[in-house]
Amino acid sequence: MLWTASLCLLWALSILGAPVNKQRQKVLLISFDGFRWDYDRDVDTPNLDKMAKDGVKALYVTPPYLTITSPTHFTLLTGRYIENHGVIHNMWFNTTTTEKKPYYQTQFVNEWWDNGTLPIWITAQRQGLKAGSLHFPGTASSYQGQVAMVREVEPLLYNYKNETAWRENTDKVMGWFRDQDLDFVTLYFGEPDGTGHRYGPDSPERREMVKQVDRTVGYIRQSAKQHGLTNSLNIIITADHGMTSVYRNGQVEEITLSKIPGFSFRDLSFHLVDFGPSGMLLPKPGKLEKVYNALKGSHPHLHVYKKEEMPERLHFAKNDRILPIILWSDPGYVINGYFPVQFHKGEHGFDNQEMDMKPFFRAVGPAFQKNLKVGPFETVNIYPLMCHILGIQPEVNDGHLNATKHMLVTSTTTQGEFISD
Ligand SMILES: [Zn+2]
Repeated sequence: MLWTASLCLLWALSILGAPVNKQRQKVLLISFDGFRWDYDRDVDTPNLDKMAKDGVKALYVTPPYLTITSPTHFTLLTGRYIENHGVIHNMWFNTTTTEKKPYYQTQFVNEWWDNGTLPIWITAQRQGLKAGSLHFPGTASSYQGQVAMVREVEPLLYNYKNETAWRENTDKVMGWFRDQDLDFVTLYFGEPDGTGHRYGPDSPERREMVKQVDRTVGYIRQSAKQHGLTNSLNIIITADHGMTSVYRNGQVEEITLSKIPGFSFRDLSFHLVDFGPSGMLLPKPGKLEKVYNALKGSHPHLHVYKKEEMPERLHFAKNDRILPIILWSDPGYVINGYFPVQFHKGEHGFDNQEMDMKPFFRAVGPAFQKNLKVGPFETVNIYPLMCHILGIQPEVNDGHLNATKHMLVTSTTTQGEFISD
């Protein structure tokens, strides 16, 4: 009887794609907001270098467009392009009431996040695993009535750069893996994004913050070891987007929509501008052509598209939440409404083809090869990779395991092979 039961268990595990003879593998997905792919080139980063030696380093990864925080993080959690997962902006908005909510408040607008695509926490839990999240964008929302079983959302006005808190959060997450036997956790750090915005990506302040990230990477790996997780835990470290310098103070002719001949805000029902290099406009009935013709070609560094004419490669059109006219500017420029109100020295949100928008990628753990450098890939592919290591069936997604499976040790690639689309 016992023998039969064990066979059944083995059969069930193989169906689920779990490693049969080994301990089930765990995954920790970490995001350091705004960590550009090349930030390790002008700073000594011994811990990131050690992680690359012990695991895998990608030259860079390509985030989805629009390259801003909540949409790109939701791509990491779902493997879907932004037009397909529907979290199209950091800001919730209502075009009828013209109400807008900033980044933090939008975290708590359930219907903004829970609009048809399940994040990996919920998928993992539905397949018998335990998932958690600390501060990762999307954590505060529920999805079809479910939430990550262990979760922590940062309070309003949280200090995202306190290194002591970073260490406490690291130890907390490692405790979840060890004491509550979680299988999958997402962990978010709000830097070096904040420093990159404030001082610019080429500043000494940004370089100091990269050193802090590097010390924390060392601390994370040490904490994993102290919690006895070295043989079971895979650590993936990446980011949501990069950062580029903004031209200011008469260095360039700024883009200010109200100054453009033939354009008037009175022709719009709703607009989302003054948000870095991207904008969306909803013209009043009958005014679309007028608004479009006034803006198109009005500034050499302003790109103006009707939603249906958006380049396919950006995957940012086919969603009802995306407004009829989409604007973006070239690196160095931001889009101002009536007059300049943005004074960041660094910005993101640009075309995802721009090298300055690309994040970094490192991975280490029992599933990954050692001392392996790989070429770039799109961040939609991180989702099927994580599902594969966890041995769960992914939801429909835009990534593919083929883009990343060369990073895995052979024994892992033979387990739990799932077709992801
Ligand atoms: Zn970000």
